[in-house]
Amino acid sequence: MTETQQRARRTAAAFREIYGAEPAGVWAAPGRVNLIGEHTDYNDGFVMPLALPHTTLAAAAPRTDGVLRLHSGGADGGVVDLRVDLRIDELCPAAPPQAGWAGWAAYPAGVVWAMREAGLPVGGADLHFDSTVPTGAGLSSSAALEVATALALDDLYALGLDRRRLARIAQHAENAFVGVPCGIMDQTAAACCTEGHTLFLDTRDLTLRQVPFDLAGEGLRLLAVDTRVKHALGDGAYAERRAGCERAARALGIRALRDVAPAQLPDALARLAGVPDVQPLVRHVVTENHRVAEVIACLDAGRPRAIGPLLTAGHASLRDDFTVSCPELDLVVEAATAAGALGARMTGGGFGGSAIVLVEEADAAAVGTAVTEAFAAAGHTAPRLFEAVPSAGAHRIT
Ligand code: ADP
Ligand code: MG
Repeated sequence: MTETQQRARRTAAAFREIYGAEPAGVWAAPGRVNLIGEHTDYNDGFVMPLALPHTTLAAAAPRTDGVLRLHSGGADGGVVDLRVDLRIDELCPAAPPQAGWAGWAAYPAGVVWAMREAGLPVGGADLHFDSTVPTGAGLSSSAALEVATALALDDLYALGLDRRRLARIAQHAENAFVGVPCGIMDQTAAACCTEGHTLFLDTRDLTLRQVPFDLAGEGLRLLAVDTRVKHALGDGAYAERRAGCERAARALGIRALRDVAPAQLPDALARLAGVPDVQPLVRHVVTENHRVAEVIACLDAGRPRAIGPLLTAGHASLRDDFTVSCPELDLVVEAATAAGALGARMTGGGFGGSAIVLVEEADAAAVGTAVTEAFAAAGHTAPRLFEAVPSAGAHRIT
């Protein structure tokens, strides 16, 4: 029996203990890292995430009485043994927190709400979650939780949703029910990634392409470094950057910054001279979209090592122009590249969370040690390192 099947068994056993009945099945959805294309997904731009081996499992059974019961064994020691009972016809994003309402339950409850909003015939359910995706580390545990819920309900109620629709429903849940103004990348990654690939996504029309990314076969490793910090600045700054991008697009008379081609950048910047604070934002988004195209070109040409400098350039752009990095993320990039990594960058929204490091297999251990030692020398909490192996998107296990 594989490790995943064993975990699914344990999750089903926990479900039986909590709800006193068999689950109808166990579903999985992964966390992700984004290879390149940061802060582009709310600019109709390009992103390139890959799924992690870390997953959120949902054991689930349907209910006929319109009740939704949610239990989480907690992710990563962060949330422990939480149980919430709700009525699906009372779910409402504007409702004040009910007795026993825990913040985390808004993610799966929001998925049920979003399905009902979309007119889908979804009923009640019992759900138990078990996750290995670190929460709040920029690895998208929230999308894993939403997409695991959405896939379980899709199967339980034979909704027949395709993966992109599933991702949109999960995003709508997070935007409108939880109240987080995220783009579509995280949910699409959880729903649509495939093993051994990085997923190219055009966030304007949701065109997808699975790009082969055989790191092991190339003698490469992609390390993920969870800095273990989340700076309070993050939430407001995200909304601020997003508003700045939208202001710039309006001033340029275009639908989104995606519509500025790299060759048009100097002209666009000149036209934005009178709009405060937006020029660096525009420069990041336009050059970042171009870096995504360049990364794809390198991978298609069988030159995966050539993406290293593009990752590092992407980090510099996020640090200097988009100003969403932080000292810990910068330190990962500095220490890793100084120790011989091919490239490194922050991944996810920024202000903490995680970074990725592309490295030759032979150098992986030394680079990891260099990063850990740099954190110790700077007096930071020890980072958590693991390998980001391109893994499967959401799927049913049993
Ligand atoms: P990220 O998605 O980067 O991990 P977020 O702040 O978007 O960070 O989402 C983290 C939140 O998602 C947690 O605080 C918690 O509310 C919820 N969450 C994620 N996974 C689980 C889980 N397995 N059980 C309960 N809540 C979870
Ligand atoms: Mg999230």
